[in-house]
Amino acid sequence: MDLQIKDKIFLVTGGAKGIGESISLAIAEEGAIPVVVGRSREKGNQLVQTLREKGREAYAIHKELGSSDSCREVVEEVMRVYGKLDGLINNAGANDGVGLENGSPEAYLKSLEKNLHHYYFLGHYALPALKKSRGSILNISSKTALTGQGGTSAYAAAKGAQLAFTREWAVELLRYGIRVNAIVPAEVMTPLYRAWINTFDQPDEKLREIEQRIPLGNRMTKAQEIADMAVFLLSERAAHITGQYLFVDGGYVHLDRSLSVLNS
Ligand code: NAP
Repeated sequence: MDLQIKDKIFLVTGGAKGIGESISLAIAEEGAIPVVVGRSREKGNQLVQTLREKGREAYAIHKELGSSDSCREVVEEVMRVYGKLDGLINNAGANDGVGLENGSPEAYLKSLEKNLHHYYFLGHYALPALKKSRGSILNISSKTALTGQGGTSAYAAAKGAQLAFTREWAVELLRYGIRVNAIVPAEVMTPLYRAWINTFDQPDEKLREIEQRIPLGNRMTKAQEIADMAVFLLSERAAHITGQYLFVDGGYVHLDRSLSVLNS
């Protein structure tokens, strides 16, 4: 299937690590150009080098996305270098465990800054370019928006708001032909997830326990599987899909949890 995204420019936040890295690689594999933005200069440069060695084009921007200024600068840099933008993939974020009981108003606000506000800021600053390209926006949310997790109010609120943005922007941007969709992952092995699982006394046991609760195949979703859905949604092949939440989660959110009994 030709996704018809060759030479298009896609801005991927957190695009050099975990799910974002897989999305960037998938974009490049289709002949399009990922512009990765993240905190680690080294990671970004590494990804660009790997792709260039394979004859692909990519570009890295080193930035903490916490402020509106930094988001504006990111979009300005993309426009300076490439002169256009065909898609925004809002992906950067981290489950930082700022709870209701074990949190504080200050930590809550800080977490929203790191997890939520840049989704809006980048959407806002990218809009003029997306209007020109009739591009699309993809928001990476999380199952926590719908299932809750406990002890992570700010992150769950950010992830819920990202789903609200998805529907809200899909409606607002209909007139420009800009499509807006979300992917909702549940359990994906990434550096962030590995760091979290390692906080348990017996990480391997904990991981096996989690996998048993994932209905399809009792396994983690692969970052590549999120990326496959992402490039499809960004492509012309998804030209009539907007305002949707796509659950790439092995049935985690919607299927009956007691299914684990049937699987065993
Ligand atoms: P990851 O492995 O930590 O990769 C995320 C990347 O984003 C990292 O490079 C990180 O930089 C960067 N980043 C995060 N916040 C940033 C900020 N404010 N400014 C600039 N860069 C920032 O995480 P992941 O597991 O791939 O998660 C990617 C997305 O998927 C997140 O939105 C997450 O909520 C969502 N998600 C993941 C899972 C899962 O199971 N992994 C499940 C549901 C949803 P540093 O390395 O410097 O932190």
